Amino acid sequence: MVITDEIWEIIKNNDKKLDNRLWYGVVTTKIFCKPSCMSRLPKRENVKLFCSPKLAQSEGYHPCKRCQPMDKILTNEMLVKEVDLILKNCYKEELSLEELSHRLHSSSSYLRHVYKKTKGVTPRQQLMMIRLEQAKTNLLTSNASISEIAQSVGLMNTSYFIKVFRKHYGSSPNQYRKMIKNKFNKFLKSR
Ligand SMILES: [Zn+2]
Repeated sequence: MVITDEIWEIIKNNDKKLDNRLWYGVVTTKIFCKPSCMSRLPKRENVKLFCSPKLAQSEGYHPCKRCQPMDKILTNEMLVKEVDLILKNCYKEELSLEELSHRLHSSSSYLRHVYKKTKGVTPRQQLMMIRLEQAKTNLLTSNASISEIAQSVGLMNTSYFIKVFRKHYGSSPNQYRKMIKNKFNKFLKSR
C-alpha cells in the first residue's frame, strides 16, 4: 500500500479519521501503530501501511504500547465471549437482543453484527440452540411435562417450543423422549 500525501498528513496530525481501518508499522523499530498515535513521527520512508493488525503481526511487527492498536479487536473478541457467558448462564431468563446489549453497554445492532461475524449465527439463534440442547437433557433426566420443560429453559410458550424443537430435531419433544427411552430399554433387554 502506498503512503499518499493525504495518509501522511493524517499520521502527521494524529488524525483519528483512519483509526481501526489502517495501521502503520515502522520498519526500523518493528512497532505498529494507529494512524492517530501520539508517539514521535517516524521518517516517511520507514513507514509501512497495513490494512489489518493481524497482517502487521504476521510480518513480525509488535503493537505499540502507547496507542494499543489491537485495542478494538480485543474488545470485539471479549464482547463475543461476554455474550456467550450470559447466554450460557442466563438462558432461563428473558434475553432479548436489547437486554443483552443493555447488559454489555453496547448498541444492539453493533452487538448483533460483531457476534454474527465471529460465530456465524446471531445471539438469538445461539440462545435457541442452548435452550434446545438443555431441553433435550431435561427431557431425558426428568419426568416433567413438556410445558414444564419449555419453561425450565426460558420458553414460556409451549406450542412455540414444540414447533422449534421439531424443526431442529425432526421430532416433537414427546416423540424424542419416547424414542430415546425405547432405545435405552431395548439396549437393556439385549444385554
Ligand atoms: Zn503507537
